[in-house]
Amino acid sequence: MNKEIILDKNIEDWLTEYPLLTKIIKTKEVFWINPKLTNFKEGIKNVSLTEKDVLDASKRLDRFAPYISKVFPETNKTKGIIESPLVKIPNMKNLIEEEFNFQLHGDLILKCDSHLPISGSIKARGGIYEVLKHAEDLALKEKKLSITDDYSILDSYDFKKFFSEYSIAVGSTGNLGLSIGIMSAKIGFKVTVHMSADAKQWKKDLLRSKGVTVVEYDSDYSKAVEEGRKQALTDKKCYFIDDENSQTLFLGYAVAASRLKQQLYDMNIPVDTDHPLFVYLPCGVGGGPGGVAFGLKLIFKDNVHCFFGEPTHSPCMLLGLMTEKHDKVCVQDFGIDNITAADGLAVGRPSGFVGKSLEYMISGDYTIQDETLYHLLKLLADSENIYLEPSALASIAGGINLFKTNSGYDYLIKNNLENSIINATHIAWATGGSMVPKKEMNEYYKKGTYLMKNE
Ligand SMILES: *Cc1c(COP(=O)(O)O)cnc(C)c1O
Repeated sequence: MNKEIILDKNIEDWLTEYPLLTKIIKTKEVFWINPKLTNFKEGIKNVSLTEKDVLDASKRLDRFAPYISKVFPETNKTKGIIESPLVKIPNMKNLIEEEFNFQLHGDLILKCDSHLPISGSIKARGGIYEVLKHAEDLALKEKKLSITDDYSILDSYDFKKFFSEYSIAVGSTGNLGLSIGIMSAKIGFKVTVHMSADAKQWKKDLLRSKGVTVVEYDSDYSKAVEEGRKQALTDKKCYFIDDENSQTLFLGYAVAASRLKQQLYDMNIPVDTDHPLFVYLPCGVGGGPGGVAFGLKLIFKDNVHCFFGEPTHSPCMLLGLMTEKHDKVCVQDFGIDNITAADGLAVGRPSGFVGKSLEYMISGDYTIQDETLYHLLKLLADSENIYLEPSALASIAGGINLFKTNSGYDYLIKNNLENSIINATHIAWATGGSMVPKKEMNEYYKKGTYLMKNE
């Protein structure tokens, strides 16, 4: 690709300006530290949303809790609040230290969004939230509902009939489609999910069984989104959920932070200058990890360090942040194929909204090979009996990289963390997996075993 021009610059100039690109283009694993990271007070000025917006989202979810509890009995225990456990994984910590020959300073904890009720992935935060917000907006506007009502009244023939006159469309690699499809169908909307080629058959089957219209494409995520957007434009009563730009989705994800704060408190885990918090978030288009990181920054400010993890074949957010071109650049521009077993992360072009909002607050972004994801999947299953989908294992790789790479070491020095690091808490955000059918999961596990034997 030597003579090629990419965004007005030839490839030699790109490589000179960003030496790390050489490895990224060769789909090698990298650990990039964000040179633009600044303190919270400065960084937050770049974001158009505020703490008040997150609180508003949180209150909206509280209003819907009686309804959620009624229609999804698996949420009875938490009174209709869709939340996941936070669990220490000391056996996994020991095992990866052995396998990867390094020492992870501090505790390793798993945030099990893989086990969120209703749709078993981080998308049960943003996706469900945006459907509920849209339903509330419509019902309030028609004066069929008031915010002081008990929202369990939404589970009625009358409301379903009302919502059935409206439709929802979304483009997805799978999990967002699951969340939005399941929630929309439950409340009564007509819903169409535009699925990229990466989407797994079982997800399409499951959605169709719930009355969701699934449209399949041979191409990647960006195309599925584009088609969904187009379809929605032709129908005034169709609402398009825009994974690439939606502030509503972003806020739904951000609510996770205040819930996490309570969980840490309940587990007696401090977060302060002497006890830094590291959070590793698998990243696709950026909305999920970005929203969570935003929420965490609002609460823990400079004491939380958020890193994104992406497949070596889909490092879209890394390219966007590093080149500062955000959604103007895609992995294919640099000859990277966007083909990965981590279907939840198979995104070639990042969200411009997320990249621009967080460019001064994200600590870094690293990439992982599919083989490493399978390997970690098997190790986690063996050590903790927790089964995740490949995408979610991108989280575990963060803690390994921080301590195994020179750039990770530089990050600790630069941020004066060399002493406090022994008191650190590392949260691997496990973004999905509990809904994967057993047969598929066995295949994943076997791949992890097979790959280990062949190292
Ligand atoms: C969607 C997804 C992500 C990433 O979320 P984005 O909003 O696309 O960045 C991570 N893990 C899993 C399992 C997902 O489904």
